[in-house]
Formats: sequence, C-alpha cells, structure tokens
Amino acid sequence: MNGIKILVVDDEENIRFLFKEELEEEGYQVELASNGFEAIDKVKGTKFDVIVMDIKMPGMDGIQALNEIKNMIKEQPVILCSAYGEFKQDFSSWISDAYVVKSADTGELKQTIKNILNI
Ligand SMILES: [Mg+2]
Repeated sequence: MNGIKILVVDDEENIRFLFKEELEEEGYQVELASNGFEAIDKVKGTKFDVIVMDIKMPGMDGIQALNEIKNMIKEQPVILCSAYGEFKQDFSSWISDAYVVKSADTGELKQTIKNILNI
C-alpha cells in the first residue's frame, strides 16, 4: 500500500484519530481535516486516492464538500460516512462512490476502501 493517500474528514476528533490509526496500520498515508472547508483546501494541494467524508459537520457539511470536490476533480473517489440513522435519504442521489455507517469497528470502511482501490 506504499504511497496510497487517504484524507479523513470528520468534525469529531476521536473519529479522526481512530480512523487515522486504523488506516495507518493498514499501510496507508492518512491526512486529516475537521470540516468541509479544510477538506477542500487539502484537496487543492494534494492528490488523495480516497476521501472518507463525514456528513454532519458544522460550517460546510459533507454533502456540500463532496459536491465541491467532485466539481474540481470529477474522478475523485469519496466515501461518505455517518452515524447509523443520521440520514434516511436515498444515498443513490448523492454522487459519492460509497456510503459507510460510522462505527468503532472499521472493518467495513477498510473493505470499502479496498473495493474502491481495486486491491
Ligand atoms: Mg460529524
């Protein structure tokens, strides 16, 4: 997994650190952003292989950030992530590449990342 870069965007510090630790253990390089604005700034300076994006964040939420990032880089893979039951909308209407329910068990997230990267 050398050189695979993942951007984790979440307003909750404990989630950022959990995902960073777990994904670094898998061998990925992980950068963090705490809201949509920061995420867009990071994307302007660095090419990420995958972005893991929380939905509920103050300021700019994950859906807005997703749309702005896809406008800049159409092929940028983005996984939306939120707590169970937070959203009851039809996820297929969103332009994310995948949706994962946020959990302390990061197994589903790790597998989704692998699916997107084809590894
Ligand atoms: Mg949040």
